[in-house]
Amino acid sequence: MGPSVAATTKIAPEVFESMIPYLTDLYGNPSSAYRFGKQINGAIEHAREQVALLLGCEPKEVLFTSCGTESDNAAISSAFQTTGKRQLLTSAVEHSAVKNHAEKLENSGFGVLRLPVAADGTLTPCQVEKAVTDDTAIVSLMWANNETGVLFPVEEIASLCHDRGVLFHTDAVQVAGKIPLDLSSSKITMLSLSGHKLHAPKGVGALYLKRRSKFAPYLIGGSQEKGKRAGTENVASIVGFGRAAELALEKIGEERTRVKAMRDRFEEALLADPRVKVNGNREDRLPNTSNLRFEGKSAEHLIGDFDALGLCASAGSACTTGSMAPSHVLNAMGLSDEQALSSIRFSFSRYNTQEEADRAIRIVKETFTG
Ligand code: PLP
Repeated sequence: MGPSVAATTKIAPEVFESMIPYLTDLYGNPSSAYRFGKQINGAIEHAREQVALLLGCEPKEVLFTSCGTESDNAAISSAFQTTGKRQLLTSAVEHSAVKNHAEKLENSGFGVLRLPVAADGTLTPCQVEKAVTDDTAIVSLMWANNETGVLFPVEEIASLCHDRGVLFHTDAVQVAGKIPLDLSSSKITMLSLSGHKLHAPKGVGALYLKRRSKFAPYLIGGSQEKGKRAGTENVASIVGFGRAAELALEKIGEERTRVKAMRDRFEEALLADPRVKVNGNREDRLPNTSNLRFEGKSAEHLIGDFDALGLCASAGSACTTGSMAPSHVLNAMGLSDEQALSSIRFSFSRYNTQEEADRAIRIVKETFTG
């Protein structure tokens, strides 16, 4: 099995096909007035419509960016500039795209409040309600955790933020294409997406910005994306992202049935051993992610052994591996360093087969008990 799909995904063949013309003959600059440029611009607008359909929003509410990290950073920075307020309310389990940005803001004198999570990784709207203050510029909470797959009740939280007149941003990088999204009547102000988590290439992302919301650009320079995101567009990747969004929408049912069944069977088979435990709430969770703790074993060693047998998985998120520091997400859920360092994230995609999942079970069992 290839890399854990929560870390990245393979480019869908249809996505690759859709990109080829824009990497070869159709190389015009979308901002140019000549016909060639207008044709390219049309392709970007088509991709915007495809992403909007996945989100259930209007195409004009979608801005293309370079990645999920940029979308997260842009959303938070914009809120500070447009509101003039000085506090960010977030959680203790965010991806480094938000976590590290928050630390930087804190070092620059802004206030950051990080809500704790329960032992199963969940968080309640009530916690947000109590923590919002008159100085809260924005509440930024991830929709699904990239390590455990645990979902936060973001729609409910967005509504309460709206009632309090506070902006709400969600990092939806892990949920897009896995659970249905409908922003048409949602109170979410901004939402981040990343292409490479839904079978589009790396290096393209999107930021949903609710119509009529104020926005202060993060990158200053050009006038692209109606002045909200400078820089000549990454046309081929945007086209691929659009096609990937279209496919994700078509296949969303499969994520919730076949992919989920594969994940559940994998978990059940491994949980037969009492030394294996699931980290995180098993109900309010993405259908494709499984974070397992192997009591008494080092995740680093297990991952190395899995790798040698052709199974890719990660300890903590791939973006923080290399250091083998315990995961801040698992620590925030109350796991000791030792427990966190014996935990591994597995994730499945629609490109995985049941045979592969069964082989993964065999590899994990043999490695763990062997
Ligand atoms: N947010 C979450 C929850 C993620 O899982 C990731 C990537 O792992 C990102 C943001 C960053 O996205 P990108 O790699 O496109 O910058």
